[in-house]
Amino acid sequence: MKIIMLGAPGAGKGTQAIKISEKYGLPHISTGDIFRANIKGGTELGKKAKEYIDKGALVPDELTCDLVVDRIHQDDCANGFVLDGFPRTIPQAEALERALSKENESIDFALDIEVPDEAIIKRMSGRRVCPKCGASYHVESVPPKKEGICDKCGAELIIRADDEPETVKNRLSVYHEQTQPLIDFYKKTGVFHEVDGTKPLDDVFADVVSILGEHS
Ligand SMILES: [Zn+2]
Repeated sequence: MKIIMLGAPGAGKGTQAIKISEKYGLPHISTGDIFRANIKGGTELGKKAKEYIDKGALVPDELTCDLVVDRIHQDDCANGFVLDGFPRTIPQAEALERALSKENESIDFALDIEVPDEAIIKRMSGRRVCPKCGASYHVESVPPKKEGICDKCGAELIIRADDEPETVKNRLSVYHEQTQPLIDFYKKTGVFHEVDGTKPLDDVFADVVSILGEHS
């Protein structure tokens, strides 16, 4: 079962990817982890990737694809994988298709965890973190006992720059711009499934399982 996860930042696709990985015994592959593993292992691809990352530049599509393709050819991916955070663009999706078709394989499921932008902005903008001890809160779902104050150490809670509504909105517009073509791409190959990501986590996962099937 070869699965790719689509969904806006904050939609909860990473959480669902981990649950899929656990239930079906498939490796959960994120590009961040691949970069880190290759850089740590000092591989040729890792050295190339590090040059870009050190400069603060984006790792080019082609190199990212090489790293992902190298990863999905490892033994633990024999029964499939859950790709999280890749592909992000049409050239990446095409490169992945080419690599898989060489082995007469293809993606089986493209799952889109769909949450409206307003709901994501609401989720993110309610986040608070403690700058002192790192504890995290949410004004609605995990509020601190005293508003604005860390339960653990008493420091004043802050909103991370990443969670500011303007930042979230920008990230979402980049996401939609890149991902809408990707959704169309996977609709054409018949593997696209939309999942309502506004439900509670376990209900979202139940919907995911009904798409993937009970077989493990
Ligand atoms: Zn604290």
